[in-house]
Amino acid sequence: MNILLLGPQGSGKGTQAKRIAAEYGIPHISTGEMLRAEIAAGTELGREVQSILDAGDLVPDETMVDILRARLAQDDASEGFVLDGFPRTMAQAEALDAMLREIGRDLDVVFEFQIADEGMLVDRMTKRAQDEGRTDDTPAAMRKRLDLYYRETAPLVEYYRTTRGNVVGIHAARTVNEVFAELQQALEQVAVRG
Ligand code: AMP
Repeated sequence: MNILLLGPQGSGKGTQAKRIAAEYGIPHISTGEMLRAEIAAGTELGREVQSILDAGDLVPDETMVDILRARLAQDDASEGFVLDGFPRTMAQAEALDAMLREIGRDLDVVFEFQIADEGMLVDRMTKRAQDEGRTDDTPAAMRKRLDLYYRETAPLVEYYRTTRGNVVGIHAARTVNEVFAELQQALEQVAVRG
């Protein structure tokens, strides 16, 4: 099962992606986590992207496409994946389409995590900043990341709606268990449709 999660920062994608991954035995591919791991390990890539992440900006598309291509080629992704944080731009979405076509696969479902209340997103990001100490959860970076989401990433929902017709909206302003139950229900439908 190839699953894509779209939604603004703080909508709970990472939390739910981990649960889906555990439940269905497929890897959670988070490009943000991959970049943070590179930074923590002090690699050349990590040094290149650190200031971009801290500012809440987007890493260039070419870099991200290379990272994702290499990750999708790893063995554990051969039976499926939960993709979280990629694509973030139209160029990345088109590159992903091309990559999937090459390997004869496609996205089975695209979940759109919906939260209308921006205050709730900011509260959740602020709480995460306290829990995890992420360096990009400062007020200025959070603002920038949300703005970029609405400008660059939100239009992808419409893109998948028109090219695939497999977008499922999720009411994400609820508890972790409630949201996961809704995801599971939708995934059962996808499995039945095959
Ligand atoms: P995330 O953990 O998904 O919120 O990502 C954290 C940060 O990593 C983002 O604010 C971007 O700076 C960078 N990043 C992660 N994924 C991408 C991507 N697909 N394209 C560009 N930048 C990304």
